[in-house]
Amino acid sequence: MNFLEQRIASDGKVYPGDVLKIDNFLNHQIDITLIKQIAREFAYRFEGTHITKILTIEASGIAIATLLADIMRVPMVFAKKAETVNCTDDKYISQAFSFTHKAQTNVLVSKPYLSHDDKILIVDDFLADGQAAKALIDIAQQAGASVEGICIAVEKSQQKGGESLRKAGFRVESIARIEHMDYQTQSIKFLQGEDMMWFA
Ligand code: 5GP
Repeated sequence: MNFLEQRIASDGKVYPGDVLKIDNFLNHQIDITLIKQIAREFAYRFEGTHITKILTIEASGIAIATLLADIMRVPMVFAKKAETVNCTDDKYISQAFSFTHKAQTNVLVSKPYLSHDDKILIVDDFLADGQAAKALIDIAQQAGASVEGICIAVEKSQQKGGESLRKAGFRVESIARIEHMDYQTQSIKFLQGEDMMWFA
């Protein structure tokens, strides 16, 4: 198991409906040392790829995206899920069905923050059905930007988001890939991972 899989195995809780709770290090309290390690691993995997911007969606993708943007020395933009009164810019708008809230949400990015010459790396904490990633791809494409890759901390391979994004030709890099989880036994099985430079 790699460093993230080890942490999931020790601290993760499986909830009904294929939900993994990792609130004590990623989704509520944040373990900065671990998130830095995740960001370094993504930077290593995309070394040599020209990236001009990191794009994520609020809320939990922001921590990873910020640290990755710092390493890559590029700006980070996070898509918002609600209109705010203090932002009057024109916006790119897409929709995603939220896996955790079980509702359709708008995904918004102000037009000045993405441009047609951007080379974008999409970042998120989880990949399940791929709704959030697809909304971010849609927004990047509305701006005329290119999507160079998708960085995911935890991919739940039993759901089909990763498979459909790879089939569509996107480079998806995940650090922990869950093959199967079981609420009754609290067991989590991972797919075999690759070697990692920043392995703990
Ligand atoms: P998708 O859009 O790929 O179906 O789901 C990804 C989004 O839903 C992520 O942004 C993440 O916030 C949330 N999500 C999906 N599955 C889980 C899960 O098992 N645990 C947590 N904490 N969030 C999840």
